[in-house]
Amino acid sequence: MESTPIEKEISDQMTRGVLLVVTGPSGSGKDTLITLLKKKYPQIEWIVSTTSRKMRDGEEQGKPYHFKTREEFEELIAEGEFFEWVEFRGELYGTQKKTLMDALASGKDVVWKIEMKGVKNIKQKIKNMVSRSAFVYLIGDSLEVMKKRVHKAEGEEGAKVRWNESLVIWEMKQYEDCDYLLVNSDESLDQSVEKLSNILHAKRYEIIRES
Ligand code: 5GP
Repeated sequence: MESTPIEKEISDQMTRGVLLVVTGPSGSGKDTLITLLKKKYPQIEWIVSTTSRKMRDGEEQGKPYHFKTREEFEELIAEGEFFEWVEFRGELYGTQKKTLMDALASGKDVVWKIEMKGVKNIKQKIKNMVSRSAFVYLIGDSLEVMKKRVHKAEGEEGAKVRWNESLVIWEMKQYEDCDYLLVNSDESLDQSVEKLSNILHAKRYEIIRES
């Protein structure tokens, strides 16, 4: 017997994927939070984007990026391989079309970390392509807190590269481009993970009417 609309919706809920786009300034804790989310829900796909920046200690090819030289990156741009790309702090970052399409086609929940200019470039395109997507703007309690985090993680030399205060101030003005604002405090990391997963789940269960 053919299933009724609500039976179909109930069964779809179990299997459909959600795309969570996470953005926010340096020191907002994007990597920490996504890593914890992935620990809690290992089935989530983390989109591996491509960058021309140098590998940092502890990183390797494919973790967390496909590392390319600037020339290789520019070739990929010329070949039309990127869904989106930006220049950020003097380096190129982008996501290849195939990477994104494969992740979306997997039917799994997908997490995609991009900076604010990228969000501006692709938000409408993504909203047209993926009905269950949520753009989450992550922020530390204050500019000072984020600055301290970057200095603590990077040391003075690293922070000279990673902390660009005027860029952070610009990014902080752009939060309205996102759907959700999530304050990620040091004292309540667990709660932040909980909030992020709540957004993901709410999106999965949302009733979307065809217009
Ligand atoms: P980091 O060098 O600290 O790993 O990343 C710097 C910034 O680049 C972060 O804000 C991160 O979200 C952003 N980023 C990483 N991959 C991409 C991408 O594919 N596209 C865009 N637009 N930004 C990215």
